[in-house]
Amino acid sequence: MTDHPTPADPADLDATDPLAAYRDRFVGADSPLVYFDGNSLGRPLRGTGERIGRFVDEEWGGRLIRGWDEGWLDLPLTLGDELGRVVLGAAPGQTAIGDSTTVLLYKLLRAAVAARPGRSDIVVDRDNFPTDRYVAEGVARECGLTVRWLDVPHDGGITPDLLATVVDERTAVVLVSHVAYRSAFRADLPALVDVAHAAGALLLSDECHSVGAVPVRLDEWGVDLAVGCTYKYLNGGPGSPAFCYVAARHQGGLRQPVQGWMGHAEPFAMGPGFEPASGVRAFLSGTPPVVGMLAMRDMVTLLDEAGIDAVRAKSVALTSYAVDLADALLPEVRLASPRDPERRGGHVTLDHPAMQAVTARLWERDVIPDFRHPDGLRLGLSPLSTSFTEVRDGITQVREALDAVA
Ligand SMILES: *Cc1c(COP(=O)(O)O)cnc(C)c1O
Repeated sequence: MTDHPTPADPADLDATDPLAAYRDRFVGADSPLVYFDGNSLGRPLRGTGERIGRFVDEEWGGRLIRGWDEGWLDLPLTLGDELGRVVLGAAPGQTAIGDSTTVLLYKLLRAAVAARPGRSDIVVDRDNFPTDRYVAEGVARECGLTVRWLDVPHDGGITPDLLATVVDERTAVVLVSHVAYRSAFRADLPALVDVAHAAGALLLSDECHSVGAVPVRLDEWGVDLAVGCTYKYLNGGPGSPAFCYVAARHQGGLRQPVQGWMGHAEPFAMGPGFEPASGVRAFLSGTPPVVGMLAMRDMVTLLDEAGIDAVRAKSVALTSYAVDLADALLPEVRLASPRDPERRGGHVTLDHPAMQAVTARLWERDVIPDFRHPDGLRLGLSPLSTSFTEVRDGITQVREALDAVA
């Protein structure tokens, strides 16, 4: 048993947190509820209700169908560029918004395997998010390919060395989560890109658990393709549309399978056959989900103001504090996330056989983490809406719940 230093006083940490004031911008931050699930569904911003109401009254109600020509049709690309600049490290013209992460994964994975004819494998790890694994299996079945499964450590994820053991001239695509949804392992994405490219394969990165919490530099790292959702750390609201990134060098060479009118070169010509639009617009399929894009827009503006590097610094401080508290107060639990903050994303998972019952008890008491089978308690600490006092209160309640149910 190692000796752990006494964790800091959360009031001191909140008092010196340069981003502390941002918490007041979120709905519900003034209530005693402890929210540890901002990595699953971010809290709404206080301005979101008014923003949506104004849209109904003025834009939708006032402009009606004219709105399509006054910005709505371009919103997937204009807001995509904004997302690219603020949180993805992507130059304009490579990011588009629409569909769900699942559908965009399908579209990009299908396009990627078609761009590597003669290659048989899609590489995915067994601990990737279910939808990523299922989409890979579906594309493999559809195209007569093989999913090459990678086993990863319980508190870790895909390292370059591990990836190098399975990637070779058979590999068409490597599908990897930048931050693993369960363990929070933060992959060394540029090094993984190098491994994939050395074998002539493409790399498709899922940014669902990183975007908005962890700096992402898609252009600089040479990532080929990426997807991510906007209702987690981008606070877009339940079911807000996802984004995709297609590196400029691949546009034109890749064809996605859901060719609808919004990806056509001239949607309103309504011509007889499909001609893809140039650029990332070719990856759109149907009518843009305009209402679903309103809430995330304000969060992107807020992240721009706070700065993603400062957000990451607070995220590291929050997860490190959670680990310190778990070490001191919950000696019987096992850390199922990396101990090294450099390798950790914005959440922490703690394993114990009683965690399912603990989670149920915590929810009754307005402490909201989530549970991941078989015995993981997942604490998502959304940097701008979570305080150190909230972390302390929540983990004190985990102690109480473990005592009550164990
Ligand atoms: C949340 C998440 C998804 C969600 O996909 P949807 O299509 O929005 O349901 C996909 N992949 C990962 C890694 C996620 O964390």
